[in-house]
Amino acid sequence: MLRNEVGVFTEKGGTIAFLLSRKGIVVIDSQFPEQSQHLIDELKKQSDHPFELLINTHHHGDHTAGNISFKGIVKHVLAHENSAKNQKNVAIAQKTEDKQLYPDQTFGETWCQKVGKENICLHYHGTGHTDGDALIHFEHANIVHMGDLMFNRRHPFVDRSAGASVKSWITVLDKTASQFSKDTIFVFGHAADGYEVTGTSDDLKAFSDYLGKMLIFVEGEIKAGKTKDEVLKTTELPFETQWKGDGLQRPLQAAYEELTAK
Ligand SMILES: [Zn+2]
Ligand SMILES: [Zn+2]
Repeated sequence: MLRNEVGVFTEKGGTIAFLLSRKGIVVIDSQFPEQSQHLIDELKKQSDHPFELLINTHHHGDHTAGNISFKGIVKHVLAHENSAKNQKNVAIAQKTEDKQLYPDQTFGETWCQKVGKENICLHYHGTGHTDGDALIHFEHANIVHMGDLMFNRRHPFVDRSAGASVKSWITVLDKTASQFSKDTIFVFGHAADGYEVTGTSDDLKAFSDYLGKMLIFVEGEIKAGKTKDEVLKTTELPFETQWKGDGLQRPLQAAYEELTAK
């Protein structure tokens, strides 16, 4: 448990958060079917209240593949309208429609609902990691699930096939950091080994700084006449000390394509 009636669960995939209230259970993200089943079994031991709502932060499989475990036991599934579209498109392309549980409710800008003593509000600040990333705020506990808008000290996946934008992502992070307070606990989709899947607005600012520096670096390389292949050979960002390890090619490629797109 993190604070009040809100806790987190991680096994394999994007971090799950849940609300265990006397009026019902709310789950955010579902990892994979096996992981979700473990979570459901555990939550049922703690509470005999119904599963009111499953919310997806965005459509990626490590956040929605476990939705299917909630089929028949959760009253509603909710996500941003673009996330719902993306989930369907990917499932059709990969022929996995029979393994999906799609949202039956979607939202555009904001959405709020009271569950027991907790007030849950969803916010959409624009394109980032995809074009359908929701922020989920448990207002009383003052906890915000960021989904994959936050990769804590780990190089991010930037899903341009689902409308992602590095530039806009930076704006989303800055808006989010100023929207909430010093006391807010943020839940992150992923973290590098040895780092936490929760943190503060300082972590959001650090990630925004990293993305900004990465973008300026790639811009400089393009101006210096470097090709995409040459840029992708970069193994370390100059002046960046916190975001290290594998996976730097993913944001570099996304930044290169974004900056050179006509
Ligand atoms: Zn993820
Ligand atoms: Zn993702």
